[in-house]
Amino acid sequence: MKVLVINCGSSSLKYQLIDMTTEEALAEGLVERIGIQGSILTQKVKGRDKYIVENPLKDHQDAIELVLNSLVHEKFGVIKSMDEISAVGHRVVHGGEKYSQSVLVDEEVMKNIEEFIKLAPLHNPPNIIGIKACQKLMPNTPMVCVFDTAFHQTMPEKAYVYPLSYEYYENDHIRRYGFHGTSHKYVANKVAETMKKDIKDLKIITCHLGNGVSVTAVDGGKSIDTTMGFTPLAGTIMGSRCGDIDPAIVMYLVKEKGYNIDEVNEILNKKSGILGVSGVGTDFRDIRSAMGENNKRAILATDIFGYQIKKQIGAYAAVMGGVDAIVFTAGIGEHAPEVRIRALTGLEFIGIKLDTTKNDSHEVGDGMLISAEDSGVKVYVIPTNEELMIAKETLALV
Ligand code: ADP
Repeated sequence: MKVLVINCGSSSLKYQLIDMTTEEALAEGLVERIGIQGSILTQKVKGRDKYIVENPLKDHQDAIELVLNSLVHEKFGVIKSMDEISAVGHRVVHGGEKYSQSVLVDEEVMKNIEEFIKLAPLHNPPNIIGIKACQKLMPNTPMVCVFDTAFHQTMPEKAYVYPLSYEYYENDHIRRYGFHGTSHKYVANKVAETMKKDIKDLKIITCHLGNGVSVTAVDGGKSIDTTMGFTPLAGTIMGSRCGDIDPAIVMYLVKEKGYNIDEVNEILNKKSGILGVSGVGTDFRDIRSAMGENNKRAILATDIFGYQIKKQIGAYAAVMGGVDAIVFTAGIGEHAPEVRIRALTGLEFIGIKLDTTKNDSHEVGDGMLISAEDSGVKVYVIPTNEELMIAKETLALV
């Protein structure tokens, strides 16, 4: 059985065709600049040269048509016909309070995720467009929505209700939702598997450190708290997002600096985080080079990054009454020992002891243990695989 996983952004689309027997990606690809001049598809198949198509693509339907053509391409494809695709799993960012699980797409589901556009104005619209385009081209193939928010729907009220007037929660659904759920769920399960323990018996802190950053407390397999909030702007410092700041700073920027609300939005989302602090860039590799040249602000950005993750580990160990395992994942989590050492040093008092040699290793493979032999808490680096998780959830529903 083969499942196509689609992750639609506003002008890009990532995809993978996964063989569910081996759980291997037969092909993976990226379509960029959809609806803008210079549209391009890049498809990778293990052991082959990249397949690149530069074709004008006016919309997502054109893009998905090109994806399907590339998958069945005589020379560069991996399947003979579209009929070999048993189901399509779509990443959908916001499932509101309605969806705590993945669901098969039907009219009601579509209506609901359209309703959630007001909660995720940047993300849900392209996700919806992607589903509709697939439905047109593959009308008889079942489709599944896998929500970024679903895994966090198990949080207790005290973790998700903001201390605002309660009416904003009741009437406007302003609350903590949390994101990256598919990734947190995947790595938490992977840790349990690696430790050969039932996830129900484990207290795990999952740190997804990519361009976006979120940390989650997973108690007995359930998310009980997470750092992202009403939107993915909340939490710890990120590539270009500020994370949690004093909300009064927003008023100050408007009143004293004269910015309008769109400008403030741009400042907090695009000009803050490690970019804002370092002045170097959003990519940690650039921060690393700058640190090599003793750039003080690049060092400060990395210090803030590690410090904030450390505070979060402490907080989540406290709310769970202990911690058995910590896992680092996503671009920075997997590849930045500089951040991990800052996040983990000094936590011996709760049983965390890092093996600094292992921490410096770049041989992550399927996952590596970076805590010392005698560490009470196991610390792992595990590459996330949101696509495989989406494919698994899709398979389970069809
Ligand atoms: P996204 O949140 O966009 O899915 P990723 O999980 O792919 O992001 O993470 C992307 C980020 O990971 C990059 O912006 C960069 O900061 C960081 N990163 C990727 N590779 C490395 C590396 N080799 N060393 C340090 N940081 C890296």
